[in-house]
Amino acid sequence: MAFKIVVSQCTQCGACEFECPSSAIKFKGENYVIDPAHCTECEGAFETQQCASVCPVPKTCVPA
Ligand code: SF4
Ligand code: SF4
Repeated sequence: MAFKIVVSQCTQCGACEFECPSSAIKFKGENYVIDPAHCTECEGAFETQQCASVCPVPKTCVPA
């Protein structure tokens, strides 16, 4: 299980990158992407997914 970023809605603000406890979010090519191999859905670290919590755009960090 992992979260993903809806690229068409992402403003590339970068806020999520620094909040991810798993360092799963990187700027790759021209977009921020979540590496599903690293995303833990914040399990064991936070009660809510931090990328979705800090993202200013609704429904942009969502379950993959
Ligand atoms: S759900 Fe948590 S672990 Fe996964 S990308 Fe978002 S902040 Fe990182
Ligand atoms: S916080 Fe949201 S808008 Fe900002 S880079 Fe991450 S996914 Fe994109």
